[in-house]
Amino acid sequence: MAGTAVSGRLAWRVARLAEIRQETPTARTLVFDIPGWPGHLAGQHVDVRLTAADGYTAQRSYSLAAPANGDRIELTVQRVADGEVSEHLTGPYAVGDPVEIRGPIGGWFVWRPTDSPPVLLVAGGAGIVPLMAMIRARREAGSKALFRLVYSLRTPAELYYAEELRRPYAGLDITYVYTRELPEGQSGIPRRIDVATLNTAAWPADFGATTYICGPTGFVETAADIMLALGHSPQSIRTERFGPSRD
Ligand SMILES: Cc1cc2nc3c(=O)[nH]c(=O)nc-3n(C[C@H](O)[C@H](O)[C@H](O)COP(=O)(O)OP(=O)(O)OC[C@H]3O[C@@H](n4cnc5c(N)ncnc54)[C@H](O)[C@@H]3O)c2cc1C
Repeated sequence: MAGTAVSGRLAWRVARLAEIRQETPTARTLVFDIPGWPGHLAGQHVDVRLTAADGYTAQRSYSLAAPANGDRIELTVQRVADGEVSEHLTGPYAVGDPVEIRGPIGGWFVWRPTDSPPVLLVAGGAGIVPLMAMIRARREAGSKALFRLVYSLRTPAELYYAEELRRPYAGLDITYVYTRELPEGQSGIPRRIDVATLNTAAWPADFGATTYICGPTGFVETAADIMLALGHSPQSIRTERFGPSRD
């Protein structure tokens, strides 16, 4: 990341929506042009501020979904029922419309291309967003750090970045956990992430790996507790909570 003054990073900037990619029926990736963007690290997030005609404002945090790319940034927003900001961003908000954004924010839940230890990524639903930025940053940098991803989602139709994740990546192993509906032809029953899942997916506790867990608050707490119970140190586990669980 360019050497950016903190004040510059936290100033509100006007961004314009340049492109929309529908990820699932209820989630979309929004690509913004944001002149003067200072760059960011995979895992960081931004604040987004909407202002109504009467001056009323609403502000929420969204993770950066892709590594820095000049004056372009990508966010992926999941529509939350009756959600003040997410319903607007996944609904009437259109290409060319402005929005205010400030950031990048966060210095702990980040992965740098120079980081070499193995990585376990644990995503619950929209929690895949900052973890996808790490996967993409690893690929772009040609990093040899070994990555494993455990991605918990309700149904196969809720998979974000489907085309990209279905492509094989050298050094990235993916385990999907479906909580409500399995893909056609897959035997077994839907289940939540549990000790057995993470015991199989996680690197051995003495491997010096870093674990990043992101998703709804309840999901993050459960996954972090399991990792601690499996003997991983608190310092090796980094968490990002998106808010209330929908389940
Ligand atoms: C650091 C950080 C990064 C985030 N990154 C992303 C991201 O990349 N993509 C993304 O889609 N969201 C992300 N979020 C969540 C986002 O900030 C909002 O909370 C979410 O979009 C809901 O806002 P809203 O205004 O639509 O809903 P609100 O009007 O605030 O709430 C409407 C209803 O939904 C419930 N609710 C609020 N937030 C959530 C939630 N996250 N999940 C389920 N129910 C909720 C509320 O309790 C309420 O009942 C992130 C949150 C944080 C703190």
